[in-house]
Amino acid sequence: MGRVYNFSAGPAVLPEEVLKEAAADMLDYKGCGMSVMEMSHRSKMFQEIIDEAEANLRKLMNIPDNYKVLFLQGGASLQFAMIPMNLMKNHKADYIVTGQWAKKAFAEGKKYGDCVAVASSADKTFSYIPDCSDLPIREDADYVYICENNTIYGTKFHTLPNTKGKTLVSDVSSCFLSEPIDVTKYGLVYGGVQKNVGPAGLVIAIIREDLIPDELPESVPTMMQYKVHAENGSMYNTPNCWAIYICGLVFKWLLRNGGLEAMKERNEKKAKILYDFLDQSKLFKGTVEPGSRSLMNVPFVTGNEELDAKFVKEAKAAGLENLKGHRTVGGMRASIYNAMPMEGVQALVDFMKKFEEENA
Ligand SMILES: *Cc1c(COP(=O)(O)O)cnc(C)c1O
Repeated sequence: MGRVYNFSAGPAVLPEEVLKEAAADMLDYKGCGMSVMEMSHRSKMFQEIIDEAEANLRKLMNIPDNYKVLFLQGGASLQFAMIPMNLMKNHKADYIVTGQWAKKAFAEGKKYGDCVAVASSADKTFSYIPDCSDLPIREDADYVYICENNTIYGTKFHTLPNTKGKTLVSDVSSCFLSEPIDVTKYGLVYGGVQKNVGPAGLVIAIIREDLIPDELPESVPTMMQYKVHAENGSMYNTPNCWAIYICGLVFKWLLRNGGLEAMKERNEKKAKILYDFLDQSKLFKGTVEPGSRSLMNVPFVTGNEELDAKFVKEAKAAGLENLKGHRTVGGMRASIYNAMPMEGVQALVDFMKKFEEENA
């Protein structure tokens, strides 16, 4: 069997070119006689891999010099704790709760200080992004936290919240490198890479240097201190070498393909094919308010659970995999990350048309 169109929310599709490159390098990376998985992280060869990855990420995202790029472990979920542990000086933070991941981060934050949900879209099953232009942000809040693209519900902040001068912290796991962002608008922007960038188990945190605390309470584990990772070039301990290498290949792939401006244009075109179909379909319905729609994760339903299950099953048989929606939303979800080709989205829409005719 060949490759399928994989609509998984994460771990998710990676560029075929990158997988082939990694396969070709597998046994003997650049003539060194071993794979990247087998080499010392202290070797010159690996230092070049991580340095080049960082340099290319800086180029792609136009990251200013006063920001550190950290390659960390524990996934995005460990950041839910690391953020309050490192950034809470007043022990107060304001969270905008737009889905499961924001909710989890909020719950974790509460373990370390006084956290308040200043906005939420829980009233309508997280199907929209609330108006964040004038929120009751507290005077002494250490930061305002958002999950910028809500992987499960398929919503995206198209305008960043007005934080009233407070530090913005953003989880961009599922929209990482899908379009250009202005890094200077964030104090800390981070993402688990397994949605749009690379293999699971690596999270990239981009943090403004002045936010990295010099001193933390004794009880904060060494591995949970941004300072330790920043001072050791993300190699205080053995990093996720393999994931860093693959991300490095993806960064080069992005640069070869026009960078983030080109990605945005392509992602908008891809998403439009699907949303345009959903907007006129008599069977399928998108679940998100049009103004809050994500370019990356597109949930939809037929309104009939049996029919949803039939669709997922038949789609799989047709080579369109992982379309089942998240257990909390039901229905279907198509994740159409950077590496999903236009043809994949077109094949999905063609299949939906056919299914609609057959099940009218
Ligand atoms: C998947 C996801 C996470 C959790 O990532 P892990 O690496 O599994 O911890 C957090 N936030 C968002 C937005 C996600 O999509």
